[in-house]
Amino acid sequence: MGKPTGFLERDRALPPRRPVDERVQDFREVETRLPVENAREQASRCMACGVPFCHSGCPLGNVIPEWNHEVYQDEWRAAAEALFATNNFPEITGRVCPAPCEAGCVLQLENSPVTIKRIEGAIADRALEEGWVEPRPPKALTGKRVAVVGSGPAGLAAAQQLGRAGHEVTVFERDDCIGGLLRYGIPDFKMEKSIIDRRVVQMEAEGVSFRTGVEVGADLSLSALRDQHDAVVLAIGATKARDLPIEGRELEGVHLAMDFLVPQNRAVADGLPALPNAQGLRVVVLGGGDTGSDCLGTAIRQGAASVTQIELMPQPGGDDPDAWPEWPMVFRTSSSQEEGGDRQWSILTKRFLGDEGRVTGLDAVRVTWEDGQLRESEERVVIEADLVLLALGFVGPDLSRLTEGDVEVPRDGRGNLVADTERFQTSLEGVFACGDARRGQSLVVWAIWEGRQAAHAVDVFLMGESVLPTSPLD
Ligand SMILES: Cc1cc2nc3c(=O)[nH]c(=O)nc-3n(C[C@H](O)[C@H](O)[C@H](O)COP(=O)(O)OP(=O)(O)OC[C@H]3O[C@@H](n4cnc5c(N)ncnc54)[C@H](O)[C@@H]3O)c2cc1C
Ligand code: SF4
Repeated sequence: MGKPTGFLERDRALPPRRPVDERVQDFREVETRLPVENAREQASRCMACGVPFCHSGCPLGNVIPEWNHEVYQDEWRAAAEALFATNNFPEITGRVCPAPCEAGCVLQLENSPVTIKRIEGAIADRALEEGWVEPRPPKALTGKRVAVVGSGPAGLAAAQQLGRAGHEVTVFERDDCIGGLLRYGIPDFKMEKSIIDRRVVQMEAEGVSFRTGVEVGADLSLSALRDQHDAVVLAIGATKARDLPIEGRELEGVHLAMDFLVPQNRAVADGLPALPNAQGLRVVVLGGGDTGSDCLGTAIRQGAASVTQIELMPQPGGDDPDAWPEWPMVFRTSSSQEEGGDRQWSILTKRFLGDEGRVTGLDAVRVTWEDGQLRESEERVVIEADLVLLALGFVGPDLSRLTEGDVEVPRDGRGNLVADTERFQTSLEGVFACGDARRGQSLVVWAIWEGRQAAHAVDVFLMGESVLPTSPLD
């Protein structure tokens, strides 16, 4: 424990976000770095609890009290070693993770939690900038070939672990760039893409090969991939969006969220205009979650005339005292929601309104919730809109091409690939599944966990044993 009285002397303090007026003019990251001195002060608040409940919130088995201690002692390199031992990409989780570890922190009970996520980000950024994170090519090769399909956080974590175990790993990605939703889902204002590029360079130096623009199932069959490799890892994400097939869905100006977010991420990368674009339009976002919030922040930056985000569920309360150490269901305001827009709850959209084939608004009713049951009220709500974005979640992996004319990969009732959390193997011999494709749409931290666990399982399958670390669930 760094400083026994640290939590009594210091309050939780986060570095300020960039001012709203400034940040909505660009797509650069909103959050600023936790400076070294402040990180030490914040780390001094950690009580090194006998039972560190912060661990209960994070699947990766991050040794949080250890790195807090090292940071307080100004031993940043030791902190980085402890951090990288359990997480392949802490500079990514240090930016985009909602930090369930902080919800579990014991200080949350009487005070406010340790700023675990920002300390994690500060350690990772410093380690990468100081050149402490060198490529770690394997000492010996096994002669085994592994194909990883999909280059999101699950595929990247699996590929890095398997490459370090000495296997010849190739990552196949249907998009033109590596990263999955890190690249084309999460907006730059939450995470700039140079963060991914730096890791790709490191992984190439470790011996991992990347093949972009190859869709397995279309450009290369799964059967061929199995013939050419000793194992195949499907880390294809859960990118099939939930739609809203109601009257007017076909109108021009009604889009799935990803059809709006992806072009903007591409525009930041290549400088070409993003289409569809919210400039000058009245935008309505259906869905009050994180994807909806990312649409809101993007629409504001594009110069929308107005943005309204509507949600079917009721507005959460300000407190959930019984939740600790679990994730509390409380009212939150994201950095994008801080920037503007109107939020409305308990609204059910019945149909989209249009004129000459273009959307002009939506026709909805207010609902009430009793014992978890939705009841429609008589109150009608009409919201005018020129652009409607559907951010209603995702229903599973996109297997439309992967299974066509090819071997079928078994799926569960929700459409996810079936594999358990011990062997990660599907019912096809040597074909493994991990990440959102296996567990359903989730979080980056879970995708990294899935990739690491699956890599261990693949290594055992290929070699009979594995020294790759795991973090099994309780
Ligand atoms: C808009 C948005 C914002 C988000 N924000 C956050 C956030 O702030 N924090 C957080 O923790 N989580 C966030 N998430 C969730 C997070 O991004 C995902 O849980 C995570 O990326 C899943 O990782 P994955 O590797 O399993 O899949 P993905 O990241 O979806 O990657 C799958 C990859 O597989 C590729 N692929 C699919 N099929 C094939 C094929 N047949 N052949 C070749 N390649 C294929 C896809 O092109 C894709 O690149 C967000 C999600 C969205 C949609
Ligand atoms: S629960 Fe909080 S105070 Fe306790 S060890 Fe974890 S981070 Fe430190």
